[in-house]
Amino acid sequence: MQLDPTTLIVINVVNLLAMSLTLPLIMGQGLSPAARDARLSLVLNGLAWVALIFSGFWREQWPDWVLSSIAMALLSVSNLLVFLALGDWLGPRPLGRLLRLLVLAMPVGYALSFQSYPVRVGWSNLLVAAQLAILARATLQPRTPEFGRGSWRFMMCACFSVMAVLTALRGILGAWFTELYPFFRAPTPLNLVALVAANVTLVLGNIAVLAAWREEAEHQLRTLVVTDPLTGLLNRNGWAEQAGKTLRHAQRHGHPLSLLMIDLDHFKHINDTHGHETGDVALQVFGKLLLRCLRAGDMSARLGGEEFCVLLAHADTQAAQAFDRRLRAKLAAAAPVALNFAMDFSSGHALCTDEEETLESLMARADAALYRAKHAGRGHLVSDEPPATLPPTLADNDLRAA
Ligand code: GH3
Ligand code: MG
Ligand code: MG
Repeated sequence: MQLDPTTLIVINVVNLLAMSLTLPLIMGQGLSPAARDARLSLVLNGLAWVALIFSGFWREQWPDWVLSSIAMALLSVSNLLVFLALGDWLGPRPLGRLLRLLVLAMPVGYALSFQSYPVRVGWSNLLVAAQLAILARATLQPRTPEFGRGSWRFMMCACFSVMAVLTALRGILGAWFTELYPFFRAPTPLNLVALVAANVTLVLGNIAVLAAWREEAEHQLRTLVVTDPLTGLLNRNGWAEQAGKTLRHAQRHGHPLSLLMIDLDHFKHINDTHGHETGDVALQVFGKLLLRCLRAGDMSARLGGEEFCVLLAHADTQAAQAFDRRLRAKLAAAAPVALNFAMDFSSGHALCTDEEETLESLMARADAALYRAKHAGRGHLVSDEPPATLPPTLADNDLRAA
């Protein structure tokens, strides 16, 4: 069997172009920045290879210089776009500055050293290898708990790592053992392996991008299911899921946990007087203030209408009362400025100290306390503490002794 580098390159380019033309159809409009970057990266990669093929028609002449330099720039920018996509998916990635420097230096160095084959081939391949190594590294750490659980990260990492090693070897041969890699389409063993690997990693890399895109869609859907669209707080679904976990954690470790049920006062009157849209803004203002008062480990949700719920970790009754005062003061200061009218709320508090308590029973106790706050004139907090265990009385002791 004889492998021909030109055929491999042509197949690679046809695959690249076919993928970059069909991906927009598959992925459709309204993509996230990450998916858009990943898709554009593929298009630039395809264009880079087209430019490289055409440059071969004028070997070592000025059109070769122009086209292959453009190809190097496209290849570098394509790598940067993958890095940006990974950053959008997985959060800030390490070595971004170094990558930007390499993206700039690679085509510039290539163009300036074009007259010397060993220098330009060594320079461009080694710098692309470094870019690929940074991409491989970017698929791994740091890890975010919400995204990147799928094995697509490892598939991408393997693709970038293999191509980084082969590209570096190509650079070393071109620069220091030029007779083993005398020109771009030389049928040397390493070049053939690198070209076959480029085809394989292209296919696998794209499967990984599609898998990442799918995970992104799942993540967005999951967020939608648990989020209240008006305030951005958790909705009832999200609350039930996360508050249950927080409650069990507090019970396991014996930490006090406070739950507050909050209901805005006379909200119907606000709607009737200022309109439903202003009512919506009022709910958003309140949601923001609520978030601002929370500490790490606390959580809040909009259960529906003008009813909110807060879970305060490591908070006894005093801490819950302090939270309530803070929130009330913030609302009193912010509402007249943001809405041109005053707003207040009633709240019911329940403290969890019992290992057997469920989220439902805790919420029911807080709700009952809220009901009492409403009936006692609104605008304040009522606490519902579990009945204290009574100390044994003298009579009890007498009975036991009998
Ligand atoms: P109270 O002090 O007893 O709580 O009186 P209230 O008027 O706040 O309570 P009520 O339950 O009578 O009214 C709640 C109002 O909240 C009625 C409803 O139109 C309004 N509401 C519920 N959801 C929304 C919403 O998403 N946006 C707006 N603007 N209003 C809402
Ligand atoms: Mg209500
Ligand atoms: Mg109300």
